[in-house]
Amino acid sequence: MGDASMRGRGQGTRKGLLSGIAHCAECEATVHLRTRRTEARGLLRKIYGCDNGHASAPAEWLDDQVGKAIVRRLLSPAGIYAFSHAEDAGESRTGAVLRAANLRAQLDEVADSYADGEITRAQMARASSRMRADLEVTEKEAQRAYLPTPLGTIDGPASALAAWRRDDMPLDERRAVVLYLLEAVEIHRRTKGVRIATKHVTMKWRKW
Ligand SMILES: [Zn+2]
Repeated sequence: MGDASMRGRGQGTRKGLLSGIAHCAECEATVHLRTRRTEARGLLRKIYGCDNGHASAPAEWLDDQVGKAIVRRLLSPAGIYAFSHAEDAGESRTGAVLRAANLRAQLDEVADSYADGEITRAQMARASSRMRADLEVTEKEAQRAYLPTPLGTIDGPASALAAWRRDDMPLDERRAVVLYLLEAVEIHRRTKGVRIATKHVTMKWRKW
């Protein structure tokens, strides 16, 4: 399971805006939060990384990039269209898409707990198999054609933008907005020592 010292031991919440949502361009695995000590000053910082150590991005930086892109999107004709189009969409899919992303993040957390020695292998296996079964059902549900607006209180791009800019918007609601607008957030592998830049991240917007 990799290096336990790089995992989120005792970090409280282990779910970030893009945990179980963004993925590694190399192996397609979804990324989750890890804590890494910087080489220069030995400071702790949070990164998103895949289990195979390919791609990573500083969590604060990536959350910020995605946040800014979402604001731009909500101000653009495509963002406005996304919400107006959703008005007459049928079946609820966003709920299922969000539940699936949360299940993937929980699976990562269980693996982390095992790596940190907080639970036994048997406990991990039990919890994981239950979650995988749930995930299978949820992902089928998530594959339906339409996405209605993610939240009852969001009925258009203006209210989405206002909600996004509010400091108190709950994490799960933010995750719902990300999933509603973005089909994929992909992190590309970098050569060691190369500073992360926007070219290392690909965002794919949903087509409406
Ligand atoms: Zn990977």
